[in-house]
Amino acid sequence: MKILVTGIAGFIGHAVARRLSGRGHEIVGIDNLNTYYDVSLKQARLNDLAECRDIQFIHMELADREAVAALFRENGFDRVIHLAAQAGVRYSLENPHLYADSNLIGHLNVLEGCRLHKVGHLVYASSSSVYGMNAKTPFDTADSVDHPVSLYAATKKANELMSHTYAHLYGIPMTGLRFFTVYGPWGRPDMAIFKFVKAMFEGKPIQVYNHGDMSRDFTYIDDIVEGVVRILDVIPQPNPDRHAATARPDQSTAPYSLYNIGYGAPVSLMAFIRALEAATGREAICDYLPMQPGDVPRTWADTEALLQATGYRPKVHVEEGVHRFVEWYRGFYKV
Ligand code: NAD
Repeated sequence: MKILVTGIAGFIGHAVARRLSGRGHEIVGIDNLNTYYDVSLKQARLNDLAECRDIQFIHMELADREAVAALFRENGFDRVIHLAAQAGVRYSLENPHLYADSNLIGHLNVLEGCRLHKVGHLVYASSSSVYGMNAKTPFDTADSVDHPVSLYAATKKANELMSHTYAHLYGIPMTGLRFFTVYGPWGRPDMAIFKFVKAMFEGKPIQVYNHGDMSRDFTYIDDIVEGVVRILDVIPQPNPDRHAATARPDQSTAPYSLYNIGYGAPVSLMAFIRALEAATGREAICDYLPMQPGDVPRTWADTEALLQATGYRPKVHVEEGVHRFVEWYRGFYKV
């Protein structure tokens, strides 16, 4: 198949593209290589992909309507995996317009490309942050009680609504994936695990929010990739029987699905820090700080729907995943 991967120089895009090329697909990857974090890491990921067969990289801005329209017109994609977005919860409080450009306009441009060129399945990244503050645990997409508390989360919720609308209006199969705190080799420098490990190797303090009273459903990158790749083949079907007693509340007459991809067990921040100490052999110097605006105290994925649809449940335990991340970090940054 010919597959478009947006955000290919990003953490998840790089890993997904590498995996798909190994399965004999033809990949076109786009990225604007923005400077939200160290561009040399994005460049290194692209260099890593250069050895893979059948991956073409195009430097492109998703908010550029003409460029995206031409991309779809000239290619005829069978599938689209849309991972490009302005990520980050706290950054969205300071830079709201970046989120509107990349996550709203960019998403709309992708939807339009899929509509005009009859893409067989759009799989796109949503986020656990959509659940917000008060969701029942474990979080289940069928509960539909999202209360996003950051602009980032609001744009991800908007992506779900926009995609559902396009699936309903134009019959294009679409699947949203709510990823839960992803970590692993080639990870993002703005995320806690990366910042903590860096500080620990440099003997500097780490910032621990909500005085350590937080938990996250940390999900290893290979589990995310496995989920994305399997979902690609699970084309959502419209449910004509939406109001039947057995229908899930998230099922609709549109060929649209929404899944969590998360490990399925929350880990407290302090336990996570202890795992990092074990993997690095360094002690963490903790600066305890209040809760940050836009943040949520805990996340926890219900993994049943993904399991039912794909036969897959994320399986890399946090201690193993942290160990693999630290190994990669040591090698990549030569510490
Ligand atoms: P990332 O920032 O590493 O990757 C995103 C890539 O998209 C970057 O390389 C960036 O340059 C590119 N990009 C951003 N805006 C663009 C635009 N307007 N045009 C073209 N390219 C653009 O982030 P990631 O961790 O790989 O996240 C991938 C997706 O998964 C994002 O949609 C993110 O919101 C979502 N997500 C990630 C996590 C996580 O824990 N990493 C959790 C939930 C959801």
